[in-house]
Amino acid sequence: QKLGNRKTRAIYDPHMYEQWEEEMHSEMNFGKGLDMNEFRLFYQPQVESLTHKVTGVEALIRWQHPEKGLLMPGAFIDIAETTGFITQIGEWAVSQACRQLKSWEQQGLGSLTISVNISPRHFLHYYFPAFLNSCIEEYNINPANLIIEITENVAIEDSKVVELQIQKVQEMGFPISIDDFGTGYSAFIYLQRFSIQEVKIDRQFVSKIETDVKSRAIVRAILTLAKSLHMHTVAEGVETIGQLKRLEELGCFEIQGYYFSKPVPIEELNSWLLASPR
Ligand code: C2E
Ligand code: CA
Ligand code: CA
Ligand code: CA
Repeated sequence: QKLGNRKTRAIYDPHMYEQWEEEMHSEMNFGKGLDMNEFRLFYQPQVESLTHKVTGVEALIRWQHPEKGLLMPGAFIDIAETTGFITQIGEWAVSQACRQLKSWEQQGLGSLTISVNISPRHFLHYYFPAFLNSCIEEYNINPANLIIEITENVAIEDSKVVELQIQKVQEMGFPISIDDFGTGYSAFIYLQRFSIQEVKIDRQFVSKIETDVKSRAIVRAILTLAKSLHMHTVAEGVETIGQLKRLEELGCFEIQGYYFSKPVPIEELNSWLLASPR
């Protein structure tokens, strides 16, 4: 049955079979990748623009693949989403982040936050809140320091389960941040139904903030909305001093982007932290 299927697909489009095979291959290796400890978290600082103080970091996953080299998330996250491995990857990332938070706390850096990217689909998993709870207990961390970023870019079914799960996670004390705010499907629904702590202003708006009046107006509107709903704002993808100044003028002071630093391995981040003002 399956073979017949493959043949039919190959007749329609010879590339599809190759792509399919490549996807299946990668799928099988996610488990191996996790077992063999091939995933890495890189960390990108979030900096207070006026003081240059690092307030937290975003954890961004990389795959040190034995044959393909260092893979960026763009090369495997979509496949992980469709094959379901995204939940295992998400849990791995949360555990790593908790371990890091614990270590910083022991070094007197207990006020730093780590933001972890969690697929909206992960919230369909009944055990996710329980998993988070086990992490709090195992690492003895303050949930307020682990920010859960949910992208707005993936449509979630208007599911009661997801809603209840997000609520549970919030009640446990984890802040929720809406990633890629304004680019997706459901931003206002999230804001209406939950008390969201933070929104991230997408790079698409930030990168044009100096040259495009529309982008600037959108950023201004997001900031006004954030203020009236008592949400933090973080601007992502800030690359130039000009963009940073514009953001300051509009009232956004938490900055993430190449202007300050690319995502870096933990050793590099730690030396960064030692060198930056407290
Ligand atoms: P994102 O969450 O929107 O992360 C920001 C992306 O923009 C990162 O790409 C980061 O390296 C890049 N970036 C940061 N500053 C700048 C800048 O100034 N200029 C430019 N041009 N780019 C900048 P990255 O690391 O390749 O990650 C891509 C996406 O993959 C992330 O987008 C996120 O949606 C997803 N992702 C990353 N790690 C994870 C993870 O652990 N779990 C899940 N579910 N998704 C992840
Ligand atoms: Ca922050
Ligand atoms: Ca993110
Ligand atoms: Ca983003």
